[in-house]
Amino acid sequence: MIKVVKLNKSFGNLHVLKDIDMTVKESEVVVLIGASGSGKSTLLRCMNFLEIKDEGDIIFDGNKIDPKTHNLNKVRERVGMVFQHFNLFPHKTVLENVIEAPVKVKKIQKSQAVEEAMELLNKVGLVDKRDEYPSKLSGGQKQRVAIARSLAMKPDVMLFDEPTSALDPELVGEVLITMKQLASEGMTMVVVTHEMGFAREVGDELIYMHDGKIVERGNPKDIFSNPKMDRTREFLSKVL
Ligand code: ADP
Ligand code: MG
Repeated sequence: MIKVVKLNKSFGNLHVLKDIDMTVKESEVVVLIGASGSGKSTLLRCMNFLEIKDEGDIIFDGNKIDPKTHNLNKVRERVGMVFQHFNLFPHKTVLENVIEAPVKVKKIQKSQAVEEAMELLNKVGLVDKRDEYPSKLSGGQKQRVAIARSLAMKPDVMLFDEPTSALDPELVGEVLITMKQLASEGMTMVVVTHEMGFAREVGDELIYMHDGKIVERGNPKDIFSNPKMDRTREFLSKVL
């Protein structure tokens, strides 16, 4: 679904991504872990073309994406992204948030968009909140709306950048359950998280990044029980 080849990205003199190679297969859940500043968000943002790589290739569904010639908005429609801070439209209701992009960007009929949005709200357990404004929701509910809103564009891949990091501890579980359900339905996902339980249980592959490089990758259970690299061991000893 996504192939990243020798990706390099710098901000000024700061070399943030160094020769990143990565493959995300259809229906696979890849979990990215690593210390703050190791380049996880930048990697996700490059995969969504919110940042443009300096060198290397991003191949999406078999097509090498050239930012100069491809319509990046069209590519972005197929790659959903959920952020730490939910970025809902505060002056729109839950339902309006979910139908906004399908109606405005995809030009889908409003009645159809509402029907699909209701299915998604049902999936994330928030049908009864359809007419509420985001300010009336808990953080966990807001994040579930953000997930529904992203799904409304029918993406092929979902990228999650620390989706539970801004939540009170008691609200983390409900968002993880929603993500787990999505994974079990076969959604292709790349997830940056500090939730090691989720990584172990749901991840097909775990990637540990340090200082812009991939240090270790493999089956999450194998890495947690027996990390090969000292750096991975050191990191895991702090977070497990
Ligand atoms: P992580 O998500 O793993 O914490 P990031 O990808 O956010 O790491 O950041 C990696 C490095 O790149 C950090 O040193 C960060 O300060 C820097 N960085 C990220 N975005 C920008 C930017 N837009 N301009 C300059 N530096 C940036
Ligand atoms: Mg980050």
